[in-house]
Amino acid sequence: MDNHWNLSPAAESAEIAKLKPKYELFINGNWQEPKSKKYFKTINPANEAMLAKVAEAGSEDVDAAFKAAETAFKPWNKLSGAERGKYIYRIARMIQERSREFAVIESLDGGKPIRESRDIDIPLAAAHFFYYAGWADKLQYAFPNKKIQSIGVAAQIIPWNFPLLMAAWKIAPALACGNTVVLKPAETTPLTALKLAEIIEESGLPKGVVNIITGAGETGALMTNHSIPKKLAFTGSTEVGKKIYKAALEGNKKVTLELGGKAANIIFDDAPIDAAVEGIINGIYFNQGHVCCAGSRLFVQESVYEEVLSKLKKRMDSLIVGDPMDKNTDIGAINSAAQLKTIEEYIKIGKEEGAEMYQPECDLPKNGNWCKPTLFTNVAQSNRIAQEEIFGPVLAIQTFRTIDEVIDKANNTPYGLSAGVWTDKGSKIFQLTQALNAGVVWANTYNKFDPTSPFGGYKESGFGREGGVHGLGAYLKY
Ligand code: NAP
Ligand code: MG
Repeated sequence: MDNHWNLSPAAESAEIAKLKPKYELFINGNWQEPKSKKYFKTINPANEAMLAKVAEAGSEDVDAAFKAAETAFKPWNKLSGAERGKYIYRIARMIQERSREFAVIESLDGGKPIRESRDIDIPLAAAHFFYYAGWADKLQYAFPNKKIQSIGVAAQIIPWNFPLLMAAWKIAPALACGNTVVLKPAETTPLTALKLAEIIEESGLPKGVVNIITGAGETGALMTNHSIPKKLAFTGSTEVGKKIYKAALEGNKKVTLELGGKAANIIFDDAPIDAAVEGIINGIYFNQGHVCCAGSRLFVQESVYEEVLSKLKKRMDSLIVGDPMDKNTDIGAINSAAQLKTIEEYIKIGKEEGAEMYQPECDLPKNGNWCKPTLFTNVAQSNRIAQEEIFGPVLAIQTFRTIDEVIDKANNTPYGLSAGVWTDKGSKIFQLTQALNAGVVWANTYNKFDPTSPFGGYKESGFGREGGVHGLGAYLKY
């Protein structure tokens, strides 16, 4: 059967983005030129075109942002929860109103398919603001019989895979709990955070409550080593997370770390196989595999291995790789040339380790960063492609016979962020959710997110929870 549908192009218009040629730093409610005098470019990874110039915050700029947040803290903290909630609701509604603009910018700047930014990233970001707005005047109910206090100023650093959504995960609970923040988006995807700053400015949020500064890792390091923030919130790689943890210990700061992952997606022979195949695809190819909780290790029970593999390959053959702005696209551009290099290196390593690679036949655009959906069979537990986070559309498949065997294999990783279990039996689901060392275990589904549900890891995947009532605890002293 021909899996290619030859759909007509259905491109979203880039005009909707309404980008400025140059973005300054959003400090104390104003757009300020960087004292560093430096700017960097952010590009569209799908065609390498420059989208805008963005200010690089140096040490004087970082200092100004924290001082603004410190000055804003007392009056913001004195406001009633209901008043704080009103501002957060307003931001949520404004994101909703401009959701199309946000979705277009997210896809242009980061390379993810417009369908994903439109249907997942932006609605979920708004949902986080709505959810935490609701908590702002009810904090005491979340912590009965405890004396709760805001922390003060938080330094927040986020990665490039879900730029606006990660900003929402960080800012919404911090504000609901009466804190003020300085947030830095990743170097390759600063634009939706800057767009959010425009909304924050229009919302009338008191000046200095949210400061958004841009820059690369050096700016991040200046933030974590600054004396003003009493809380560091970081989402990113385990490698940088370790540095942040050290800075938190030295500076006596509270810290939450959301780091990498290498999740097991486990398919039992009594699973609904067609649904499971869809779950495998969603688990590893969603957002080009740039997902900390991606189901990058697939474990299939031996008796259904051939069936799962053949259905999986057939489904992969139908995935559309290409223009992120096209509504038909399933897999967009790899976020940066550097990330593409890392992924390609791992694909090479997989082959050298003796694993067998499969990629569907498909044409890739000439410019930009692209990687075909990839799977490896004949993978050993010790292979680097089964142990290390690739952060790309690359799946490592292993088989198992018994529950005990798959529990051992699934837990044999330095990470512990998420897992998936596919089976008809509720009892197996309960056994696995207890036995797997993972912050989130999805059963007969994958990559489901909701602001009411806490998210976070064990081991080298970090600690602390974001989302839900637990997410409030990260921004309060009690
Ligand atoms: P990264 O290199 O650790 O960067 C994350 C952020 O930290 C970026 O804003 C980065 O700035 C900044 N940074 C870099 N060096 C720093 C330093 N020395 N001090 C302070 N900040 C510094 O990670 P990434 O490559 O952007 O993101 C991918 C990683 O994030 C993956 O490992 C993924 O699993 C993890 N992740 C985890 C979660 C989760 O919830 N657990 C969610 C999403 C992603 P620049 O980008 O500007 O250099
Ligand atoms: Mg970019």
